[in-house]
Amino acid sequence: MGVDGVSDRLTVSRLGGFLEWSLLMPRALVTGVTGQDGQYLAEFLNQQGYEVFGLVKGQSNTRADIVAEEFPFIEMVSGDLQDLTSLVSALEHVQPDEVYNLGAISFVALSFKQAELTANVTGLGVLRMLEAIRIVGGRDNPMRFYQASSSEMFGKVRETPQNEQTPFYPRSPYGVAKVFGHDITVNYRESYDMYACSGILFNHESPRRGMEFVTRKVTNAVARIKLGLQSELMLGDLSPRRDWGFAGDYVRAMWLMLQQDQPEDYVVATGETHEVREFVQLAFAAADIEDWERYVKQDERFMRPAEVDLLVGDATKARTKLGWKPSISFPELVTMMVEHDLKLESDKLRH
Ligand code: NAP
Repeated sequence: MGVDGVSDRLTVSRLGGFLEWSLLMPRALVTGVTGQDGQYLAEFLNQQGYEVFGLVKGQSNTRADIVAEEFPFIEMVSGDLQDLTSLVSALEHVQPDEVYNLGAISFVALSFKQAELTANVTGLGVLRMLEAIRIVGGRDNPMRFYQASSSEMFGKVRETPQNEQTPFYPRSPYGVAKVFGHDITVNYRESYDMYACSGILFNHESPRRGMEFVTRKVTNAVARIKLGLQSELMLGDLSPRRDWGFAGDYVRAMWLMLQQDQPEDYVVATGETHEVREFVQLAFAAADIEDWERYVKQDERFMRPAEVDLLVGDATKARTKLGWKPSISFPELVTMMVEHDLKLESDKLRH
C-alpha cells in the first residue's frame, strides 16, 4: 500500500511528471454510470485522476445524454450486461485497470414483476462481466473488479447486525440475483486468481436517488406538498427499518476496496437503523411541516410480497481495514435531499 490508502500502482502515477502522469493515468470502466452510484463514483474517480469510461445501454439512452452533459469527462462506451460480446468489445476498447459493476435492475419492487429480467441483468450480468475480464484481461493485463452486492441478500436475517460472515436469505428476485452475483464473484476470485471484490452495501441515498425509491419519493413529495403542488403522499408499510447512509460516502468505500493488497469482501453500513416513518417525519420537518400525518396515506400496492427483516450492518472490517467511515448523518442526509427537491421543484415552477 502507498500513502493514504492508495495503491502503489496509483501512487507511482501520481508522483510522475506531467507527461508520465497522463500516460499512467489509471482507467476505470463503470457500469451503471447513469444511476445514482455511477454518477458519484465517476465524479470521485475523476477527482482521483482517473480516466473514466461509462458503459451505457440502448440505442437512444436519454439518461446517458443527461449524465454526459453534466459530467463531460466521462467517455461513454456502448454495452449491455445482457450481451457478453458487447462487454468484451467495451473492455477491449477501454483496457481498464479497474471495472466497477454497478449496473443492475436495482428496484426491489420491479424485480417481483420482472424476475427473469432481474436474474439476467443483476445476476448473470456479473458472470458475463467476469468472463469478459477473463477473455480480455489475464495475467498481462490484470483488471481489478468491484461487484455491487447488497444488504438485500441478508433478507430474512439470520443475525443482527449483519457482517461479512452472516448467511444470506434473500427475500426478493433482486436479492436472489445479487446472491448469485456475489457468489460468482467469490468463485472467480478463488478459481482464477482474479482481483475481484464485493461490497455488501446497505441502503444509501442522495439527491440523485431515482424517484421510484421510497426515500426520494418521500423527499420529492414533501417538496411538492410544501409548494402546494401535491396534497398527499401514498406509501406502503412505514414500519420497516433500514440502515441508511449517503451514496457519496459509499462510492469511496468501493474505490478503497480495489486499492488493497488482497481482494476481499466488505460490509459497508452506518450501523444505525431508522424506521421509514422516521425518515418521513424528518423530511416533513426539514420543510417546516409539523402535522405530517395528515398528508401520508397507506396503500397496499406499495407493500412488498415478502418484506426483509431488520437490516443493520456491522462495518467494523471496512472501518478497520479500509479506514472508511461515513461523513453524513441520517438527519443531514434527509435534509440534504429535501432541500435539493425544494429547489428542483421551485426551479421547475419558475421555468
Ligand atoms: P440505479 O440508480 O438503479 O442504477 C442502475 C444502473 O444500472 C443504471 O445506470 C442503469 O442504466 C444500469 N443498467 C440497467 N440495466 C442494465 C443493463 N442491461 N446493462 C447495463 N447497465 C444496466 O442503482 P444505484 O442505486 O446507483 O445502485 C448501484 C448498484 O449498487 C446497483 O447494482 C444496485 O443494485 C447496488 N446497490 C445499491 C444500493 C443502494 O442503496 N443504492 C445498495 C446496495 C447495492 P439505465 O439508466 O440505462 O437504465
